[in-house]
Amino acid sequence: MPIIDIVVPCYNEEECLPLTMPRLLEKLKSLIAAGKIDEASSIVMVDDGSKDKTWEVITSLHEQDPHYRGLKLSHNRGHQYALVAGVEYSAKRADASISIDADLQDDIDAIDQMVEEFAKGADIVYGVRSSRETDTFFKRATAQGYYRILQKWAGVEVIYNHADFRLMSKKAMDALLEYKESALFLRGIVPELGFKTAKVTYARKEREAGQTHYSLSKMLSLAWNGVTSFSIKPLREIFRFGLLFMILSVIAMVTFGVLQGVKVLPYDGLPYILGSIFLMGGILLAAMGILGVYVGKVNYEVKKRPRYFIEETLE
Ligand code: UDP
Ligand code: MG
Repeated sequence: MPIIDIVVPCYNEEECLPLTMPRLLEKLKSLIAAGKIDEASSIVMVDDGSKDKTWEVITSLHEQDPHYRGLKLSHNRGHQYALVAGVEYSAKRADASISIDADLQDDIDAIDQMVEEFAKGADIVYGVRSSRETDTFFKRATAQGYYRILQKWAGVEVIYNHADFRLMSKKAMDALLEYKESALFLRGIVPELGFKTAKVTYARKEREAGQTHYSLSKMLSLAWNGVTSFSIKPLREIFRFGLLFMILSVIAMVTFGVLQGVKVLPYDGLPYILGSIFLMGGILLAAMGILGVYVGKVNYEVKKRPRYFIEETLE
């Protein structure tokens, strides 16, 4: 029977964990009882440097039942890093891991199907949301637009409506851990791994308690990382854009010159001066901004900084 770890990134989830973890434990125990997974399977809560009592809650859960394990990151590193920390831990002891958010917005009943697909030989099982009814209009619209941009424009392979609820076999986890870049965008990397995959659909629910920790700025930075980590298209596009602007400005100025030459318009030098200043300024700034992003990324990656430190482990 396979050992399967459920990896839960937790950031300021003191309100959520006491409600959601017992339900997850029940699920784990029912799978153990049904002989689908090994008794040594566990729930690995990764405390992503929370500022509230999350670690205390994890500690007390661990004392109640040995199936609960905890990892404490020394600092808030963000959801993606917390997930990787959990996967790295789990790859050493389990045959597969399932990642799920602490608020259990994702349906834990989909776990049964994930385990089944794994038993049938899948290395990666994606949890895919069947609807986005519980999302605000804003989140739905931006998420959909974003997936489209990623896929169609930047050419990143992503699974539509899949967040980070997925099962990964030991093989897939080891492959993922080979990616050493520090700006991780798991949704783009995991499909790139290949292997045998399967999908499980479920309906996403409301958050159990507390509030979202994905602020608009965290979401934007994830989205931006998704594009710039996987594609250099913005660089090429901005180049084309600049070229277009240059051609247009030359055409505009030549047109002005001709119209003034044949005295349709009175002579005035200002349009040329203003036009060229604004156009060149705009092009240069945009191009430099984009360049800056990539240079910044290179600067960040060449440092090969560690992604996180584990301060404490409960096992
Ligand atoms: N999370 C984390 N570190 C962060 C922000 C969030 O580990 O810096 C965790 C959080 O505890 C939760 C998951 O990531 O388990 C998803 O966050 P949330 O539910 O707040 O996001 P939403 O579902 O609103 O997108
Ligand atoms: Mg959530």
